[in-house]
Amino acid sequence: MPEGDILRLTAERLDAALRGVPLVRSELRWPSAGGAYLVGATVTSCVSYGKHLLTRFDDGRTLHTHLRMDGYWRVHRTGSGPAQARAVAVRAVLATPAWTCVGWHLGMLDLVRTQDEQTVLGHLGPDVLAADFAEEGVADGVRRLAEQGDRPLCEALLDQRVVAGLGTIWMAESLFARRLWPWTHTSALDDDARRDLLLTARTLMGRSVSVGRSRGPQGVERHVHGRNRRPCTRCGTPITVGQANRPPYDRPVFWCPSCQRPPA
Ligand SMILES: [Zn+2]
Repeated sequence: MPEGDILRLTAERLDAALRGVPLVRSELRWPSAGGAYLVGATVTSCVSYGKHLLTRFDDGRTLHTHLRMDGYWRVHRTGSGPAQARAVAVRAVLATPAWTCVGWHLGMLDLVRTQDEQTVLGHLGPDVLAADFAEEGVADGVRRLAEQGDRPLCEALLDQRVVAGLGTIWMAESLFARRLWPWTHTSALDDDARRDLLLTARTLMGRSVSVGRSRGPQGVERHVHGRNRRPCTRCGTPITVGQANRPPYDRPVFWCPSCQRPPA
């Protein structure tokens, strides 16, 4: 599932392609929004919040989309073959005379008034990649993390109501960076340690965004995620994989048994 760093890169690409020029084509292939007409409206910004994407228009509307497991957006030259976007898996098409943005396999799509964006985002914790996270959001995140009590850190970090943006990759990499056993209870950390953990996640994901801008998404090195049985980059111990949450909602947790020991 794409995480906040990929959503940030996606938002930047869509913003660069669409902002400031009235749309000449819009198709929302979604039951609740199929009749919406966006031709003539102009995108004022496209931004991400956690794993959510907000495309705002100058007529006071916001297109809210979420990639869920398999979704992605592609940008093509308007008039090119791929820009036709006839496939059944295409859920959204937004085009200016120059660029056509095609949303494939989207898992969520709503058209809301921009002033009502909170109706689709209000349940989320602070966005770990928000510009003001280190100054403002992190205190909220620390408080929400503290409220998780005996819940394992790996599960709390995946819960978008605690902090928005992390998935299995950055949950695992952040816990490895802080040398935390993934099943440590959130209550076992003090507020300083919770803050360090959230700011580490922000740093790692921010680096991924920077690298992604030049080398493309997935360009940043990973220390544990997806490295089952390969040697730890820090100590050489084989990386292992455990589980967060119970089936059917279980997610993989990659970790180093030597660097991330359970609390004594
Ligand atoms: Zn290790």
